[in-house]
Amino acid sequence: MTTTPGFETLAIHAGAQPDPSTGARTTPIYQTTSFVFDNVDHAAALFGLQQFGNIYTRIMNPTQAVLEERVAALEGGTAALAVASGHAAQLLVFQTLMQPGDEFVASRRLYGGSINQFTNAFKSFDWRVKWGDPDDLQSFEAAITDKTRAIFIESIANPGGIVCDIAGIAEIAHRHGLPLIVDNTMASPYLCRPIEHGADIVVHSLTKFMGGHGNSMGGAIVDAGTFDWSATDHYPMLSAPRPEYNGVVLHETFGNFAFAIACRVLGLRDLGPAISPFNAFMILTGIETLPLRMQRHCDNALKVADYLKGHDKVGWVSYAGLPGDRYHQAMQTYAPKGAGAVLTFGLKDGYDAGVTFVEALELFSHLANIGDTRSLVIHPASTTHKQLTDAQKVAAGAGPDVVRLSVGIENVADIIADLDQALAKV
Ligand SMILES: *Cc1c(COP(=O)(O)O)cnc(C)c1O
Repeated sequence: MTTTPGFETLAIHAGAQPDPSTGARTTPIYQTTSFVFDNVDHAAALFGLQQFGNIYTRIMNPTQAVLEERVAALEGGTAALAVASGHAAQLLVFQTLMQPGDEFVASRRLYGGSINQFTNAFKSFDWRVKWGDPDDLQSFEAAITDKTRAIFIESIANPGGIVCDIAGIAEIAHRHGLPLIVDNTMASPYLCRPIEHGADIVVHSLTKFMGGHGNSMGGAIVDAGTFDWSATDHYPMLSAPRPEYNGVVLHETFGNFAFAIACRVLGLRDLGPAISPFNAFMILTGIETLPLRMQRHCDNALKVADYLKGHDKVGWVSYAGLPGDRYHQAMQTYAPKGAGAVLTFGLKDGYDAGVTFVEALELFSHLANIGDTRSLVIHPASTTHKQLTDAQKVAAGAGPDVVRLSVGIENVADIIADLDQALAKV
């Protein structure tokens, strides 16, 4: 092919070719822990980073490698690393950027698990999070100090369908010599490609829309290749000689994919959250249909949002795809093909109505996940956010009346009929 292949083509072909030893057309599951060396010199070259190749599946595996190339191609990055989960991806990114006592600024509108990871688990590494408000870009700048090493946001934020001004936050980050990390899980690269708007690192929970079928955990880190790690001495994992590799300086040696290499040969090697070859295979299969699924998710979600908006038991609907929504303008810049599958709405009768509604649904599954082919529902106030005080619930976007849907790709008439019968019982 002479021109750059389109997104749909990359989703099926990027990184893959018929298996060189068997001719197998789909990428095989290389279910092995380790790989034979050609000879002693080959082994030494692999261990010394003079040559790329498979050693041990904790560090690299051929099924995982196809997944990495595919995700990098879809995001427009120079390289990617696949790991065991979205949280593992975030851990490795920060472990590569931060020293004890360093700080980062994160959007306060994030997936709840990320808020927990940043406030609790990261504390034991002495990595300190400060919060910015995506509706007030100035708050990110105000939180930056001489200890800040990165800014972290979600492209489309969960819950509530907030669309972040990625370019605006990238401009602040770069003016202060900081990389911008964007969690692109909710949008997927089909809807939004953060690197085109200034992101330096993209992270994913592949568990959600990328895998798409609710059957496999996975995560990814994508290196945009845009950040100059040697401009300061703030990122010693990249810019200082590494004693464990004979004094190699990763940024000098690997240039515009040094960040992905550092996450692999330091973070993944030493911390160990490798993705299984089987899960890499399942997620690769899911990605082949990402464009079709994502468009159907968006089309169905918009119809559901429209239906809910017209229902007399519904107080409000938050979905950036709705004209007039607070984030509709930003959506047209950052996710013009659709605002994703996830939307929230409020029941006029509050907490008890939320519980009755969720229990009355039949097609929707009541569980704590998003990005399955199936339609999913959760009432955060009675489940994921039950431990919080009422004031904390409201601040987290999980007030007593809030219901969150991840609209699936079933027939939309069936989805709306299920919502309709459940609302009738409220
Ligand atoms: C689920 C999720 C994560 C965490 O991913 P896991 O694969 O569950 O570890 C991170 N960010 C967002 C936006 C998510 O939805």
